[in-house]
Amino acid sequence: GAADVQCDVVVLGAGPGGYSAAFRAADLGLSVVLVERYATLGGVCLNVGCIPSKALLHTVGVAEAAQSLASHGFSFGKPEVDLDALRAYKDGVVSKLTGGLAGMAKARKVKVVNGNGQFIDANHLKITDAKGNAQVVKFASAIIAAGSQSVKLPFLPKDPRIVDSTGALQLPAVPQKMLIVGGGIIGLEMGTVYSALGARLDVVEMQTGLMQGADRDLVKVWEKMNAHRFDNIMLETKTVGAEARDDGIWVTFEGKGAPKEPQRYDLVLQAVGRTPNGRAIGAENAGVEVSDRGFISVDRQMRTNVPHIFAIGDIVGQPMLAHKAVHEGHVAAEVIAGQKSYFDARVIPSVAYTDPEVAWVGLTEDEAKQQGVAVTKGLFPWAASGRAIANGRDEGFTKLLFDAETHRIVGGGIVGTHAGDLIGEIALAIEMGADAVDIGKTIHPHPTLGESIGMAAEVAHGSCTDLP
Ligand code: FAD
Repeated sequence: GAADVQCDVVVLGAGPGGYSAAFRAADLGLSVVLVERYATLGGVCLNVGCIPSKALLHTVGVAEAAQSLASHGFSFGKPEVDLDALRAYKDGVVSKLTGGLAGMAKARKVKVVNGNGQFIDANHLKITDAKGNAQVVKFASAIIAAGSQSVKLPFLPKDPRIVDSTGALQLPAVPQKMLIVGGGIIGLEMGTVYSALGARLDVVEMQTGLMQGADRDLVKVWEKMNAHRFDNIMLETKTVGAEARDDGIWVTFEGKGAPKEPQRYDLVLQAVGRTPNGRAIGAENAGVEVSDRGFISVDRQMRTNVPHIFAIGDIVGQPMLAHKAVHEGHVAAEVIAGQKSYFDARVIPSVAYTDPEVAWVGLTEDEAKQQGVAVTKGLFPWAASGRAIANGRDEGFTKLLFDAETHRIVGGGIVGTHAGDLIGEIALAIEMGADAVDIGKTIHPHPTLGESIGMAAEVAHGSCTDLP
């Protein structure tokens, strides 16, 4: 059929996966159309995910840190919170970044088309804008980067006091009592924000512990430091119903930690996971296979079952993380440009940007135990770190796991302030096949939190650590 635009590559969705793929493809000389239904680029991560949540966490973190300085000789009054100003700060951070992306797209001559994209066949995508105007793009290759959305619990009533992460990030008001449904990273990050603003928290989690995926020894430190935020942590418990009344949302629970009576909340955050957008892009018209749950399977070059159509990011599966989407986007663009790229990252780091932060990468100690993998552990408590003590935050620790035979590093976890910034070094060490001696003999600057990584390696290979 007739096409309005022709290109080498069409990228469907402008989240971290999509814009990274589009930019890499353009840098490699391909003509690129980037399709996005929303007015701004950046997808979930920039608009309603990673970035706004970190703008809020940064602000409340500084406020809480300031409040903790009384014993250092600095006292402040009770903080006064202006929610409108906080919201404006967060929105400013987001628009700086989305605006930057628009500039980068322009500089690379990536053509951005706004509207809802649907495949017509294996070489045509139809894009319909909000006014109903449609145009057709004819493409040689496509990259599906349509992302995911939060799972909605079907039995929760429609009510402005029941929100998902997007709603919570809008900071409608500070509730007195808030329920977090789902004790994963997103729920606990948002809980941290609302708690610092003055809300009392309950959390309900179906599994046996919060922050699944992280080793329990890391999580325990976070739990100890955050116990004051929670009235009730309900584990192995499900939310089974809710009723919206004038005085609040009354929630019913079932399971091990369930209160017998319904509980009243001013705000309920649903953070029970994310579901891929694969069933709403017309994939069937292009012959691309999509699972019942909406995921698209790909090979190590990010190719779907249709060889010239690729998929990346949340829509291809776990872990649903921005840095994974970006890496996959680069692979897909490079393959389309004729390079022999593969997704062969050994590890993908995970970070909870809570306070303290919890970060882990590669094999965890719990997984090593379950899988019967013999590992040597090097653990360095921050109570022995000069910098952590000077910071007044020595509750954390750095843990490295080494293959018991080769002494190569296979995993690591950090709990403590800035753990997320520190975990990258462990990821690099794993990618490079470093062993305990390589890491221990690398001179780290003193006094830093990063030093704890070298110290943990020395603990594992048996040297003394004598620098506080
Ligand atoms: P998305 O970011 O979901 O982007 C997909 C885009 O495609 C969207 O803009 C959507 O509008 C568009 N789209 C979909 N269908 C169509 C269509 N038919 N036509 C046109 N456009 C379409 N990850 C981290 O790594 N670190 C974090 O700190 C972090 N924090 C998070 C906090 C929150 C509150 C949430 C919700 C998520 C967070 N994530 C974080 C996860 C991260 O946001 C996602 O992993 C990431 O955005 C996935 O990128 P993506 O490119 O696959 O898709």
